[in-house]
Amino acid sequence: MKKEIESYCRDYMRFLAAAKTERRAYAEAVRLLEAKGFKRLEDMKSLKPGDRVWRGYHGKTLFAAVVGREPVTSGIRVVGGHTDAPRLDLKPKPLYEKGGLAYFDTHIYGGIKKYQWLVLPLALYGTVVKKNGKKVDIAIGDAAGDPVFMISDVLPHFGKEQLEKKAKDLVAAEDMDVVAGIGSVAEILKKKYGVEKDDLLSAELEIVPAGAPREVGLDRALIAAYGHDDRVCAYAGLHALIDLSKGQALSKTGAVVLCDKEEIGSVGASGMESSFFENTVAELIDRQAKSARDIDVRRALERSQMLSADVCAASDPHFPDADSIGNEAKLDGGPCAIKYTGAATKSGASDARAEFVAEIRRTMDDAKVEWQMGELGRAEKGGGGTISKFMARFGMDVLDFGTPLLNMHAPWEIASKHDCYHTMKAYRAFFAR
Ligand code: MN
Ligand code: MN
Repeated sequence: MKKEIESYCRDYMRFLAAAKTERRAYAEAVRLLEAKGFKRLEDMKSLKPGDRVWRGYHGKTLFAAVVGREPVTSGIRVVGGHTDAPRLDLKPKPLYEKGGLAYFDTHIYGGIKKYQWLVLPLALYGTVVKKNGKKVDIAIGDAAGDPVFMISDVLPHFGKEQLEKKAKDLVAAEDMDVVAGIGSVAEILKKKYGVEKDDLLSAELEIVPAGAPREVGLDRALIAAYGHDDRVCAYAGLHALIDLSKGQALSKTGAVVLCDKEEIGSVGASGMESSFFENTVAELIDRQAKSARDIDVRRALERSQMLSADVCAASDPHFPDADSIGNEAKLDGGPCAIKYTGAATKSGASDARAEFVAEIRRTMDDAKVEWQMGELGRAEKGGGGTISKFMARFGMDVLDFGTPLLNMHAPWEIASKHDCYHTMKAYRAFFAR
């Protein structure tokens, strides 16, 4: 078992290092899928049981499926995670100079504690689309010998006034700007990447922590990395689906969705609020039944089931005030099922029905998955949400089920190897039941 956990986590850490943004997670996932015989859905005229397909959207949101014996109209089993993570986006006109230094002006994406992002080595990733449609991919900060970027902070000697402030005011969002060099860096962008200053108007450039995932602790039982939320569940779902042996017949079609924009509310064309998922189910039915009637698509959606594959907060012994004592998720306790998210009054929660929770309990216990059940933090302390409510909208059963993390949304988050592995095992059991 120990060997399987180590080997799985090595692969996961490799994925994380390659997938620092949603676009890169998408590209890496497609590479893994195609290496294992998954074909582009658009290229398939019909579908038969056992077929392996994927469909992408805007290079960010991805759907992959192994076709089951029963038709898609009888419902599919979905593991849905997200591949975007909190970060700093470059503004459309990011370059400016101040006091002889060149800066990137940034805009926060997702929920962060701003102070955690100061004085850290940072990397720059993204895509610049020139007026003629030509794309230039940028990746600076993680390859050997690459420079990094950094947000500066005032020294302790002169920081007395700053330290009197509330933590949220230690640095203003508008001042979360990244040192990009001394003097004009526009020339370097032009020379080295062929990118003009105006090309940055049509670009998606992201500042993320530099550095590959690292093992933590003398026993190496933990992994520190940027973007565990939610690549730890996204990768687990992807791995579980890809790893189904070729001849393994699933009764229901098994699918993963790796979506974008979860951290800013699942909005936008590549977020789960869009029609991408419905459209993809219609595309599947169209290839099975030769025409996807509206009622068939609705039936398929309503009869489907989903594990909303997103991380949860592990109890931190140093911050017990954040926990719902007795219902807290424990680090190393296995993936955690969360019946409802939301805040103190369950507002915004999709709240899975007890019958579905019982089915999942049976599935996990039969497959010897080490899992736990918990709540998302102490009532009235805050709250959170996942993509579950956007899928529950179709009438399908949805349960939040994912890996517990320490320091969620920090530049470096911590997960336990045991939990990473059992998350994958849980999704595998869900597909195979
Ligand atoms: Mn998440
Ligand atoms: Mn999150």
